[in-house]
Amino acid sequence: MSYYSTNNPNVRANLKEAVMQSLAPDKGLYMPLNIGHLPRTFIDQLFTLSFEEIGFEVSKLLIGNEVPTSVLQHIVTTAINFPAPLVFLDGDKASLELWHGPSLAFKDFGARYMAALMSWFIRGENKPLTILVATSGDTGGAVASGFLKTPGIEVIILYPSGKVSDLQEKQLTTLGENITAIEVEGTFDDCQAMVKEAFADTNLSARYHLSSANSINIARLIPQSFYYFEGYKQVQQQGREVVFSVPSGNFGNLTAGLMAKKMGLPAKRFIAATNINKIVPEYLETGVFNPRSSAATISNAMDVGNPSNFVRILELYGHDTDAIRKDITGFWLDDQATRSAMKEAFDKHGYICDPHGAIAYKSLDTLKAGEQGIFLETAHPAKFIDTVQETLGIQVPVPESLAILAERQKKAVLMPSAYPALRDWLLSR
Ligand SMILES: *Cc1c(COP(=O)(O)O)cnc(C)c1O
Repeated sequence: MSYYSTNNPNVRANLKEAVMQSLAPDKGLYMPLNIGHLPRTFIDQLFTLSFEEIGFEVSKLLIGNEVPTSVLQHIVTTAINFPAPLVFLDGDKASLELWHGPSLAFKDFGARYMAALMSWFIRGENKPLTILVATSGDTGGAVASGFLKTPGIEVIILYPSGKVSDLQEKQLTTLGENITAIEVEGTFDDCQAMVKEAFADTNLSARYHLSSANSINIARLIPQSFYYFEGYKQVQQQGREVVFSVPSGNFGNLTAGLMAKKMGLPAKRFIAATNINKIVPEYLETGVFNPRSSAATISNAMDVGNPSNFVRILELYGHDTDAIRKDITGFWLDDQATRSAMKEAFDKHGYICDPHGAIAYKSLDTLKAGEQGIFLETAHPAKFIDTVQETLGIQVPVPESLAILAERQKKAVLMPSAYPALRDWLLSR
């Protein structure tokens, strides 16, 4: 499979180049050159297939023959070794729980798949690969656990001191092994700027083989399309029209759903659910895409003012706003309404939503008669325990995997927010 840059269709890469570069040389995002259709028989039989079988067929379509069959099978099995169950709140609304992986957020799918793929691409090389990544919270945890103990790869994570939750910090700083955490005395933007400078610094290239694991990497999108099929298969036999509601920030998750539809997923439409950073719902209403600085909310993984995957959505629809409107409906809530949605899900259905999933849950009020709504639950509520407990007035059970982290010792390199500090540290190791 060839991948092209969203900035210039003539800029091409194969899978290995697209994954290892992350961003195209012209700063565009990579897209598969053509997205094929799964056989009708495959779609009709989805309910008889395992999550892994689905993941394998979808991967083959998006990757082509660059990875041998047995290797691809191994990558899929490694990446999705946890389920994505559908939990019904009532006859019309169901939650697709994407948080059963090690970091308790849907980002585990992308991070684990990318780790397995990269580790195959660098096999036989003697210079280790160094993944440098800045995180505002959830990405770091997923990447750290996705790459943990991956031979030939080390991960260096920069995070802003005092600006991630205690549990998020533990997820970054307690794994050890091939994972190093750098606590930057600055903001997330500072961390990102330091990582950017490192990639541009030729002094480092003699010592390091650097790569990135950010969310625009095509390897993170591919496995995110698997679970739309997995969700659909669990309602398939009811024969109703299915609507997916997706809590969205950078819009990678929704883009993967649209790719699934292109491959033949019988989804009627999608809902783009956001907080007050409603750039895309606004675009759907007015036809104008107006990126701006983000505002802070309780659904902070969606505090994005310039959604990086939006350009991929434009590409999928040939930049035709009306075609996009046929497939995507916008929906947004402010913090107060998000809390009300969390309360409603709990009072009416006994279901605990995290703040991100709660917005998507509430958007299903707009379903039309006969539609089956599936909202994506992107994180375990315990990841946002303070907000959830304060809103619902209950104790939220913390999963064992998160609870044991609280006991572990934090280990991080404290660093001022200035690039030379990162460079000197990298060169002196
Ligand atoms: C990252 C994240 C999102 C947003 O996903 P995008 O693919 O960036 O749109 C939503 N919810 C949670 C919990 C997340 O961690």
